[in-house]
Amino acid sequence: MTMNFLQRNCRQVTALVLAGEDRRLGLFERWAVRAHLKVCTACPRFYRQVALMRKALPRWRAYRDTAD
Ligand SMILES: [Zn+2]
Repeated sequence: MTMNFLQRNCRQVTALVLAGEDRRLGLFERWAVRAHLKVCTACPRFYRQVALMRKALPRWRAYRDTAD
């Protein structure tokens, strides 16, 4: 089975990762991101940073909301 239909370049993948913060990605979009992360060295790093930010942000919001 060819996976060519899932091939995206780095620009498209970073856009999809960011879009995933705002909306739920479709099945093929998630597959395309996962397939790209396996063959790319830069995008997994970017993906991890976004994941870290996603985890840190609610905590920062909670802190800010209780601070005043
Ligand atoms: Zn990439």
